[in-house]
Amino acid sequence: MDDWCDQQDLVPGGDLIYRCSKCGKRLHPRKIFGSDGELAEWRLPPHKKKGHKIRAIKARKRKRLNEKAL
Ligand SMILES: [Zn+2]
Repeated sequence: MDDWCDQQDLVPGGDLIYRCSKCGKRLHPRKIFGSDGELAEWRLPPHKKKGHKIRAIKARKRKRLNEKAL
């Protein structure tokens, strides 16, 4: 399964972390140069959706509960 987010937001600068407007993941923007090599814009890089992380946290919590029950 491919969990890549296809959203690549345009952002005003590269010194901050921005949230993807689609999946909400926080990302460092990267500089994209135009064809003339001078014009540049900041854009959020392709990234995986954050669903994986949420699933991992849930699994950890479940494991902790099981250990307590023993
Ligand atoms: Zn995203």
